Amino acid sequence: MRISFSPPDITQKEIDEVVDTLKSGWITTGPKTKLFEKQIAESCRTSKAVAMNSATAAMEMTLRLLGIGEGDEVITSAYTYSASASVIHHVGAKIILVDTEKDSFHLDYQAVVNAITNKTKAIIPVDIAGVMCNYDKIFEAVDYKKDLFRPSSELQEMIGRIAVIADAAHSFGASFKGKMSGEAADFTCFSFHAVKNLTTAEGGAVTWRDILGVNNDEIYTKFMLLTLHGQSKDALAKTKLGAWEYDILSPAYKCNMTDIMASLGLVQLQRYPEILERRKQIIEMYNHAMNSVGMDVLAHYTDEYASSGHLYLVRLPGKDESFRNRVIELMAGKGIATNVHYKPLPMHTAYKNLGFKISDYPNAFDMYKNEVTLPLHSLLTNEEVEYVVKGLKESIKEVDAIYV
Ligand SMILES: *Cc1c(COP(=O)(O)O)cnc(C)c1O
Repeated sequence: MRISFSPPDITQKEIDEVVDTLKSGWITTGPKTKLFEKQIAESCRTSKAVAMNSATAAMEMTLRLLGIGEGDEVITSAYTYSASASVIHHVGAKIILVDTEKDSFHLDYQAVVNAITNKTKAIIPVDIAGVMCNYDKIFEAVDYKKDLFRPSSELQEMIGRIAVIADAAHSFGASFKGKMSGEAADFTCFSFHAVKNLTTAEGGAVTWRDILGVNNDEIYTKFMLLTLHGQSKDALAKTKLGAWEYDILSPAYKCNMTDIMASLGLVQLQRYPEILERRKQIIEMYNHAMNSVGMDVLAHYTDEYASSGHLYLVRLPGKDESFRNRVIELMAGKGIATNVHYKPLPMHTAYKNLGFKISDYPNAFDMYKNEVTLPLHSLLTNEEVEYVVKGLKESIKEVDAIYV
């Protein structure tokens, strides 16, 4: 058997919708992107959504919308993918990494409180594996140090405290205490990259909560300008006969979604309840098997929250990095693709060069050192899930035999 890690789940319906777009005469940002945005906002229960070409762009444009840049600090987790932190660097602000809570994949809420200074303008919590952070605790942390907050833009002032920008690349469709991912943080950034739960090949979106005294249409228009050259009219508006003239209001960026991508997204969104359900079934199969052999696994469904079931994270109790790496190699030998989520940012060259040291993030290192991510996607059959479980058990046994 060959079991891939996270192949895209594309049916004839997606293919037909893409072909429809290709034949329609309009392939870039247009009616399908607008419809996709409307449906994303509906499923997140927000007033609006803006689609872009990635979650990275969505996070960066949100920082720019908020007017965050040089001289500012933005907090995120050491235990994440580079994009959560690199966007802070892109806008010229200082990256502040905090450790995870002991035995948790989420950031340490007390460490967040400690990291807040009078330069802090935003925090980017990461909804790892599709499990949303405890946003009650994040808002508590932010409120606790409210007196230190010095707004440097009108929007920051209207929010009145540090802005919470969720890296929800994994958590579309998840909920926490009755709130959907998308309506919990001030701004929420989703990814529709090829390996994510819902895909447009590349793609992303941002949703936001209503801000008292701020018009949502105004935020929407600002995002349109930021993502399309600061141009006063989008390409579709310009195609109206005679309506050639436009103005460039700022030398902005280019990260809009195309209708080809959106057509994939529209069908994926229709199919999404089934996709989530299948992921849940697989997670329950894995949980059953892992509990019986004493593995630590991340809980995806509790009374407090339901995840989007994006990644299945397993920790090999009492094992170290080399043991884990050997297990991954043996599983690869059996045709099973696995991964590690994540090698903490302070272990990567770019972040070492920025001065970060893994010794300052002991909890994140402990989570990383014995973590294995098993294949989890809606194309997996029950037999394949069983094969993965068997492969993991055998691989651990084989490495154990070498180690003693
Ligand atoms: C995939 C991912 C991103 C980036 O998403 P893109 O759409 O590729 O920009 C950001 N954060 C995390 C945690 C991710 O896994």
